[in-house]
Amino acid sequence: MRIANLAGRLVLVRGDRAVDVEQASGGMFAADPQAVYARWPQFRAWAEAADLPEGEPIAAADLGSPAPAPAQIFGIGLNYRDHAGESGFDVPEGLPPVFTKFRASIAGPVTQVRLPEGGHTDWEVELVVVIGTEARDVPAERAWEHVAGLTVGQDLSERITQFQGPAAQFSLGKSLPGFAPTGPWLVTPDEFADPDDLALGCSLNGEKMQDGRTSELIFPVSELVSRLSALLPLYAGDVIFTGTPAGVGLGRTPPRWLVPGDVLVSEIEGIGTLTQTFVG
Ligand code: ZN
Repeated sequence: MRIANLAGRLVLVRGDRAVDVEQASGGMFAADPQAVYARWPQFRAWAEAADLPEGEPIAAADLGSPAPAPAQIFGIGLNYRDHAGESGFDVPEGLPPVFTKFRASIAGPVTQVRLPEGGHTDWEVELVVVIGTEARDVPAERAWEHVAGLTVGQDLSERITQFQGPAAQFSLGKSLPGFAPTGPWLVTPDEFADPDDLALGCSLNGEKMQDGRTSELIFPVSELVSRLSALLPLYAGDVIFTGTPAGVGLGRTPPRWLVPGDVLVSEIEGIGTLTQTFVG
């Protein structure tokens, strides 16, 4: 099953068409895309049994984030061995570095992003998890039961702010407006042959920059949900950016940063693409 945020309304995605959930359910489920996660099991049961209309064509530019107002956004650092290496860090043990992307950064899949003046803005394609039912002290083998679905994310990062001062400022440097695009829709885990092994990558102006597989995650989705939920509750609708593979601008010699006019396309197998165009 796929759901999306089409012009601010929750829709079921069927091929290239969208079915409005509030209308199709006769008002049983609200139009607010974030509200569905609070009733995720009931929604899934309804969606699987419902006799749905054909729906309307989807214009990609009208899509918003599939989780536009999460209570919590988790960002995971250094979760691929080759990216930890290119960043000059040791591979984490026990817990990976965890930061947040503030809500101001949330955006949809097809956007224009303003680059901060004098900044060093970088790309990080990531598998993004949305929680479907509250998770507390969840063992890894039951973690997927708490996942509503997966989507594509870009953890855009302004590196000067990120590494400024006596202690790094990961959250601020990664939270400028539009720095957390996600989409184009949320895909439920049962849609994948193996949700733990998906190709992901991104291209800048058509040139491949990142090319990895989520099977290379040091802490896979189940471990992230388990280890985070041992410390604090993960609420329905919460978002986890799971980390990025090698190939970011920071890891290049010389480093490469986004400039006005750049077009960044990010993709995950079985989900879809994001397209960000950068302006000065
Ligand atoms: Zn990241």
